Amino acid sequence: MTSTQVTDAAESDHESALETARRQLREAATHVDVDGGVIERLKHPTRVVEVSVPLRRDDGSVEVFTGYRAQHDDVRGPYKGGLRYHPEVTAEECVGLSMWMTWKCAVMDLPFGGGKGGIVVDPKNLSEGEKERLTRRFAEEIRDEVGPSQDIPAPDMGTDAKTMAWFMDAYSMQQGETIPGVVTGKPPVVGGSYGREEAPGRSVAIVAREAIDYYGKEIDDVSVAVQGYGSVGANAARLLQDWGADVVAVSDVNGGIYDTAGLDTHAIPTHSEQPEGVMGQDAPNTVTNAELLELDVDVLIPAAVGNVITRDNADRIRADIVVEGANGPTTSGADAVLNERDVPVLPDILANAGGVTVSYFEWLQDINRRKWSAERVRNELESEMLSAWSDVREEVEAADVSWRDAAYVVALTRIGKAKEARGLWP
Ligand code: NAD
Repeated sequence: MTSTQVTDAAESDHESALETARRQLREAATHVDVDGGVIERLKHPTRVVEVSVPLRRDDGSVEVFTGYRAQHDDVRGPYKGGLRYHPEVTAEECVGLSMWMTWKCAVMDLPFGGGKGGIVVDPKNLSEGEKERLTRRFAEEIRDEVGPSQDIPAPDMGTDAKTMAWFMDAYSMQQGETIPGVVTGKPPVVGGSYGREEAPGRSVAIVAREAIDYYGKEIDDVSVAVQGYGSVGANAARLLQDWGADVVAVSDVNGGIYDTAGLDTHAIPTHSEQPEGVMGQDAPNTVTNAELLELDVDVLIPAAVGNVITRDNADRIRADIVVEGANGPTTSGADAVLNERDVPVLPDILANAGGVTVSYFEWLQDINRRKWSAERVRNELESEMLSAWSDVREEVEAADVSWRDAAYVVALTRIGKAKEARGLWP
């Protein structure tokens, strides 16, 4: 490693989402044969819309919140990405996250570009009625920016299926017709897809299973540790156990439980079944979240929050394979260390892309007014994941790059080719 790389890596433990997205673009650009002008355009979002969202609180007072929608790139199709309600939402963060969505959709070869948005608000301080009014007014404020062929939001931190149903209803009322394809992640009764909720965890499990096989291990013999027992972590853990792996450790925000003989993941309540229920389960050992990351296991799945594997602990990671369930769990500093140590890291933009892939299925179902069975969703997700896996694997083998670099190369090549084919207007 050169000294410049060490400095970059050290600083990158603290960078913002936008800095990370731009740095990853710069790094990926060195591996691809894409015109410099295309890379320059991809450093910038198409637009970022800022709106004021007035809300009448339950006590009759009026409070005004700020909302954003960042639209990064739509060369391959409409913008796609979540809406988050969180006190720390910023325009810059939305741009960074929208860039990640562009890469994620492209690596999966979905006909979408990247978007992200949200409202600067702590949803815990809102009543149900206030959250609904805020969502409906936000839908109205960004009505001209969104639509099934323009920009399709989805749930993210602080928003859920119910929020998407309110958004879809508000948009549809204003347009004068029911338009379910304006958002994904809705309840199935109003055009949501079966299997959407479990999809990111399922894709993490599929990528882990393929990586286990690629590195010459038998799934019946592998041990797995999962940080975060929410939608992503628990679904991945349960599937891997069903497929024969020993899930030896899982955790939530309070810490984890550990059994070298393997845990019964179906008996451990997920975050939505019983928040913070992991530590209450019977197990021979407990571990802190920091210790869980350093367990001697075959596969480590960080599936809770970002920036947990850093330059400080990367040397102590003993897993043979890391599969990123959360978005951005490995800092670039840690990435450099793990790369040096030949520990493969299967990147988030591939591993947890099952979520946006089933969102794409939902959009198809909405547009065609034709529901798919849960079995069809599972089968189509399996085949999309295997296809993306093999595209990325071919790049790893052909260019001798890391899995993350390979995923970016696949994504950037597709976007670059689309931009070159369409040209710059005027
Ligand atoms: P979730 O809220 O369902 O569960 C999160 C879990 O992580 C809970 O068990 C919680 O207790 C635990 N946790 C929270 N903070 C922690 C910490 N500091 N250390 C250890 N554990 C902690 O969330 P989720 O939907 O499973 O999302 C997890 C991650 O996956 C996030 O990074 C999210 O952005 C990403 N992701 C989610 C989806 C999705 O559709 N659900 C899709 C792609 C990526």
